[in-house]
Amino acid sequence: MALNKSKRKDNQVKIALAGNPNSGKTTMFNELTGSRQHVGNWPGVTVEKKTGRASYQKYSLEVIDLPGTYSLGAYSEDEVVARDFLTDGDYDVVLNIINSSNLERNLYFTVQLLEMGVDLIAVLNMADEAEKKGIKIDKEKLGQMLGTPVVETVASRGRGINNLLEKTVQNRDLSEPALKIDYGSNVENLIDEVVSMLKEFDFTAQINNRWTAVKLIEHDSEAVKLLERKVGVSKAKKIKSLIAERELKAEDDFDNIIIDKKYEFINKVIEESVDRPEADQEPEMFQIKLMQL
Ligand code: GDP
Ligand code: MG
Repeated sequence: MALNKSKRKDNQVKIALAGNPNSGKTTMFNELTGSRQHVGNWPGVTVEKKTGRASYQKYSLEVIDLPGTYSLGAYSEDEVVARDFLTDGDYDVVLNIINSSNLERNLYFTVQLLEMGVDLIAVLNMADEAEKKGIKIDKEKLGQMLGTPVVETVASRGRGINNLLEKTVQNRDLSEPALKIDYGSNVENLIDEVVSMLKEFDFTAQINNRWTAVKLIEHDSEAVKLLERKVGVSKAKKIKSLIAERELKAEDDFDNIIIDKKYEFINKVIEESVDRPEADQEPEMFQIKLMQL
């Protein structure tokens, strides 16, 4: 999905690095930009903002290092900064830096970006760590299932950077439809109802209305604020009441269903695209992940 890709010259590409903490974003940022960096703050918050420049062939790249987060909720300044940047949409392509040796957790973030409709390249960083653990990733299959280009890198040793730059400029006009996960009939029916109310109230945003509907069903405070700002408190209340009503009627907790279905999708992607030794299958990781969200 093309968002708000504004007024750049043909040879200018604006890219943002996004991903979990410790996935190697800053290492990649340094590798790409060298000394052409500027450090400041994001407006209104104490979160550090790093921007820099890189060039590749005839292209001039503006690079932004987003704060590392596991999620795109409204729980921390870091999350809100990353989310605001991504929802505003003024970039050409996001490099989603992924720790290949910890795919499940990292893909949870990737899936959130894809559901927003962010045009991204999945960067399988720390390929050396994955290799050490005997993890083999079928990049083609992974790319197919996620609907994105996939590149392998070892940022700390500069491995794969040229290929990444090549793929970045090749995909500067990437415009993929948002990923749609099937949340099951109860949630899907509610999403449809909320989406049609958003339409009825003339709600518009850079991001698709399905994404806003899911966020509202998750009781995400930023989504509620945005809704109130755009359609007014009384119409927003109608949507909130509908969600509360459906929730009361359903036996299940919608928030949990949404998280579970995301992991179901991720597990399927991993099952079909990753080969790894038995010892690395660590079922207990699942619990840790959920606690961190
Ligand atoms: P950030 O939190 O995403 O910005 O992650 P950093 O760039 O700070 O990297 C976290 C740690 O991982 C640092 O010690 C890096 O040197 C290391 N690192 C980054 N990329 C790689 C990689 O591809 N392979 C390995 N083995 N280590 C890496
Ligand atoms: Mg960093």
